[in-house]
Amino acid sequence: MIPSWFPASLPADFWLRHAQVPSALLDVATAADAEGLARLDIRITDGAIAAIAPAGTVREGIDLDRGQVWPCFVDGHVHLDKTQTWPRRPNADGTHPGAKAAVIADRGKYYTEDDIEPRFDFGLRCALAHGTAAIRTHLDSYWPNAKAHWAVFRRLRDAWSGRIELQAVTICPLERFAGDDGAALADEVANSGGVLGMTTTGEGGRASSPEFQDLLDRFFSLAEDRGLAMDLHLDETDDASSRTLDAVARTAIRRGFKAPIQAGHVCNLTVQSDEEAISTIALCAEAGVSIINLPMCNMYLQGREAGRTPRWRGITMVHEFRAAGVPVSFASDNCRDPFYAYGDYDMMEVYREAVRIAQLDHPYGSWTASVTRTPAAACGFTERRRIAIGARADLVLFRGRSMTELLARPQSDRVVLRDGKPLDASLPDFREMDAVVGAP
Ligand SMILES: [Zn+2]
Repeated sequence: MIPSWFPASLPADFWLRHAQVPSALLDVATAADAEGLARLDIRITDGAIAAIAPAGTVREGIDLDRGQVWPCFVDGHVHLDKTQTWPRRPNADGTHPGAKAAVIADRGKYYTEDDIEPRFDFGLRCALAHGTAAIRTHLDSYWPNAKAHWAVFRRLRDAWSGRIELQAVTICPLERFAGDDGAALADEVANSGGVLGMTTTGEGGRASSPEFQDLLDRFFSLAEDRGLAMDLHLDETDDASSRTLDAVARTAIRRGFKAPIQAGHVCNLTVQSDEEAISTIALCAEAGVSIINLPMCNMYLQGREAGRTPRWRGITMVHEFRAAGVPVSFASDNCRDPFYAYGDYDMMEVYREAVRIAQLDHPYGSWTASVTRTPAAACGFTERRRIAIGARADLVLFRGRSMTELLARPQSDRVVLRDGKPLDASLPDFREMDAVVGAP
């Protein structure tokens, strides 16, 4: 369904008039208001942005009446192989250990290509309808029991080409890369055009032990030998002594590692001393590490204890990272699986919740880039997801004018343009999943 406020079909050449665009999403310097919004007319020709002019330049076209125009979203950290499994495998207590135990049991019993593919595809359809055009997914990869995950990824990446650009990353404990299986898994990643990833925590100072360092160097050498980028789940804990992000940044600097590294979660910086956290942040800036934060999942999982009100938001030091020049993105992470009971791959929801949880407002600044052009650049997606002449007209049009209108409501009546055409994309019905995971 295309929302009724917008024409269902358009000519190949038209103007969007009286649009407002966050200036952080523009490539041209333009006057903006106190919320960072620039008033513009935007010409779309043959599926691309052909001209950008001050609002009121033209008289013909679709009058957006100051509604906001954003580029399509980039979701730089999700888990499409786990998605939608909640009905058959809920997290009994909502904790991180509870999530891990549930996923291990579920994966061992059910995860075949026939099980993963319809759930993965369902997640992509949700994302497409909400206006996302690029996704990086992690895939549980316990070699040799990861072939189904990677086969589904390659198939759906090709099937979805042109609609959602897909990347995939391994996720398994760092220790899994120690032996021959680690090399075989790295080969699978290289042959699939993927990214090398692992997860680790370093409770009790483990990250400074020689054994940990040997494992980390082995992991780096596997990536270096194959020219792979990295994407890591690190320090997803409230234990301040876990300092694996620090170890990763030091190792990258010592080895002169040049490929991109994205680090996810790193929740515990906010419970470390300022001195420790700031030192790690400076190392990340020096090493060229990007940070991706998963605010909805981490607020759900972290600081949870039955009968006790949570005291902690679970997020990392996003403002301090940004001030140090480290790129910071936000992403969905898990949706309707034991790590997060909710979520729908809606990056406007992620941005809205991130604004509230991390106080990305007053001023709003350039945080709108954290769900669009920042993850596009950090992950190396083909389209850089900004409003620029020559860019594909992959746009999300909102009725919300000011930032508080935009963030006060879910913007369910948004219009998604792909190659300049309105997308007729309805959200899939959860009932479709009953045949795969059982009815709730
Ligand atoms: Zn994750």
